[in-house]
Amino acid sequence: MSLTDTSLAGGPSLLQERRIQTAIPGPRSQELLDRKAAAVAAGVGHTVPIEAVAAGGGVVVDADGNSLIDLGAGIAVTTVGNAHPAVVAAVQEQVARFTHTCFMISPYESYVAVAEALNRLTPGDHAKKSALFNSGAEAVENAVKIARKHTGRQAVVAFDHAYHGRTNMTMALTAKAMPYKSGFGPFASEIYRVPASYPYRDGLTGAEAAAKAISTIEKQIGADNLAAVIIEPIQGEGGFIVPAEGFLPAVVDWCRDNGVVFIADEVQTGFARTGAMFASELFGIVPDLITTAKGIAGGMPLAAVTGRSEIMDASHSGGLGGTYGGNPVACAAALASIDAYENEGLLERAQEIGTILRTRLESLQAGDPRIGDVRGHGAMIAAEFVDPATKAPDAALTSAIAKACIAEGVIVLTCGTYGNVIRFLPPLAIGDDLLHEGLDVVAAVLTAQ
Ligand SMILES: *Cc1c(COP(=O)(O)O)cnc(C)c1O
Repeated sequence: MSLTDTSLAGGPSLLQERRIQTAIPGPRSQELLDRKAAAVAAGVGHTVPIEAVAAGGGVVVDADGNSLIDLGAGIAVTTVGNAHPAVVAAVQEQVARFTHTCFMISPYESYVAVAEALNRLTPGDHAKKSALFNSGAEAVENAVKIARKHTGRQAVVAFDHAYHGRTNMTMALTAKAMPYKSGFGPFASEIYRVPASYPYRDGLTGAEAAAKAISTIEKQIGADNLAAVIIEPIQGEGGFIVPAEGFLPAVVDWCRDNGVVFIADEVQTGFARTGAMFASELFGIVPDLITTAKGIAGGMPLAAVTGRSEIMDASHSGGLGGTYGGNPVACAAALASIDAYENEGLLERAQEIGTILRTRLESLQAGDPRIGDVRGHGAMIAAEFVDPATKAPDAALTSAIAKACIAEGVIVLTCGTYGNVIRFLPPLAIGDDLLHEGLDVVAAVLTAQ
């Protein structure tokens, strides 16, 4: 099956159905997985054993003709929908004009237009500037560089359950050892970890959780040494953990009082995912810096740091950048995606999807005490699986459910510090029928476990 086969064109015109024609993986997919095992480094894993050949709307089609319902959006990346027609057109137009000049050598308009859009769309009406990079981890690295340069301080605080990437500094910021850190040290220095707010497990109010975090910071680091506090407004890989009300505003206020740069890592929560353009808005906070990536460019690799002009301008010329940062093809895709977020009703669509997900999962929870918690905002909803008697995390059940869903043609992803959370983050281009069918499969699988 070749990629030039026009019957395999992706995007929303792809037949929107769950279709299982072979066992998963089918023979063609298995062939690719065998080649992968022989040619690709073992550290690069995969969770859905298929060879993807097309995707769009709410489905991913494999080389064996199976069509899987996509409740993962490539980890919150294809939020506007895979192969969104406007993104495809923008990429095709740009790629035929020029593919690269290096923005640090010969600037071009689309990079500036993406920066302008980010400055306009991110929370707060203060003067803002942006810089573009290739990946979420690279954006986080640069946000820390900028905060250190601006404050003249070195320490950085991250939280329990945090995920910020797999590069050296972001591994240090990330909380979970397996699979992200084990054996990959030594890690970057001057990174400190403090307790987060995890209402289902810590039972604390937002004010109590913030007081605990702040007291740890003051005692173990000292505000005078602290350049930045970085946090995901809703923790993603850590388990879609929504902090208790008041937690984030209290941390932001403390940062402001102490000249500490508050960085919101919205790489996963940004761009309509939570039903707001940025999750910070849900909590009424205005970050000093905000990192974005994933949903920004409809699947093309792009990332950004956006924030207060006086902080963003702290670096000398040449201190920030990179060969590919703000690649023109990725910028064209970002402009088309941002236009879709603003003009295709996607914030409302994320809220509708969230209502469906939450209603269905809460009704499952009512009849099944193994679902300890249902939480999230918009199209970023999760269910946490536990031993009903002890609330102990049940990672084995979680992984069995995810595997069984995939075998039935529904892509679901797990997450969580304890590996006991299934997260639902479909593309916003998914239709209600397909979303309900996906949840029917989850319900049936759960009953059978
Ligand atoms: C995925 C993610 C990152 C890392 O992004 P990459 O593009 O994979 O480097 C950083 N922060 C958060 C919150 C993420 O979800």
